[in-house]
Amino acid sequence: MSFSPSRSKTILNWIKKNSYLVDDYEVEDDNWGGSEFGPYSHWVYLTPGYICEEVHHIHEYSISDFVEQVKLIEKCDCDECKELIAEQHKELLPLIEKA
Ligand SMILES: [Zn+2]
Repeated sequence: MSFSPSRSKTILNWIKKNSYLVDDYEVEDDNWGGSEFGPYSHWVYLTPGYICEEVHHIHEYSISDFVEQVKLIEKCDCDECKELIAEQHKELLPLIEKA
């Protein structure tokens, strides 16, 4: 069986439906999955304000594990998220004031 280095269609489709949850998606050639799942692992970074099992990203080599992980995404109001959200608001503020 050969594995494509490209992004997973399953993950991309999930992101399309849940774009508000996702900041970025990368595929890494780190050989984490070994012979069973191939050399590529998937990194999905969550938008500030969301968390999954105490981290702000999902890192899986198995797509079926990814599908299970996304069910565990929760809202997050940790200091890191609050700061990032405040930063975003600061960038938006001048635009809002001009409008
Ligand atoms: Zn957080």
